[in-house]
Amino acid sequence: MDCIFCKIVSGEIPSKKAYEDEFCYAFYDVNPKAPIHFLVVPREHIASCDAVTAQNSAAVAHIFEVIPQIVRQIGVTDGYRVISNCGRAAGQTVFHLHFHVLAGTELPW
Ligand code: AMP
Repeated sequence: MDCIFCKIVSGEIPSKKAYEDEFCYAFYDVNPKAPIHFLVVPREHIASCDAVTAQNSAAVAHIFEVIPQIVRQIGVTDGYRVISNCGRAAGQTVFHLHFHVLAGTELPW
């Protein structure tokens, strides 16, 4: 499978790591949309939110447990936004489930 985020998770493509554990990997976005912008992805290939099922949703729950830990570790104290673009029309460009975490400024809606 030719998936850029699978290659980042495996280390084949370099990335700036923010966090990692057995189930997920977090790295800084190459094209940040805020002063702090990192992505959290499951190690397992899941194409998007639309491919989340009862069989793989534990990885998603885990990601939502670690996001608060990562933002605290980075020193974010004044709020952050978590986004997942699901599908081409919603702006998804990489079809490996990922959660954008944006912080470090006032974020307009
Ligand atoms: P999306 O458009 O929601 O699918 O988000 C994909 C994100 O991946 C974009 O914000 C890109 O800037 C980011 N991205 C693509 N390639 C890389 C890479 N090699 N390292 C870090 N971020 C990347």
